[in-house]
Amino acid sequence: MASLNCRVCKMLILKCPYCGASGEETEFECGGEAHLKRFGPGSGDDEFQGYLFDRVNRKGVHFERWRHSSGCGKWFHAARNTETLEIYGTYSAQVLEPPAEIREKISGKVPGWSWREFS
Ligand SMILES: [Zn+2]
Repeated sequence: MASLNCRVCKMLILKCPYCGASGEETEFECGGEAHLKRFGPGSGDDEFQGYLFDRVNRKGVHFERWRHSSGCGKWFHAARNTETLEIYGTYSAQVLEPPAEIREKISGKVPGWSWREFS
């Protein structure tokens, strides 16, 4: 599950959690922030506007949606650090929160970090 980043070119190296293939970020497509709370019919205009347009631009731990566009084509989530470019792991896009092993890995590397800040 763990992925690396290239020490020479600083390009992200992602690993697709579905087909297991690893590749440079150019083999994938970033779909923006992960774990967004969706608002649909019955929600207020402000909530829907926020869902559509408001995004966090964090320095540090960040969760993103990626698609393996040059491979199996499936969407997945990646936990990474926007400051160090470290990738903590990739996982299914069908879950509401990162797997415990990824949360523990982040907590071990980023003092004071907590998933509760994101959820
Ligand atoms: Zn794949």
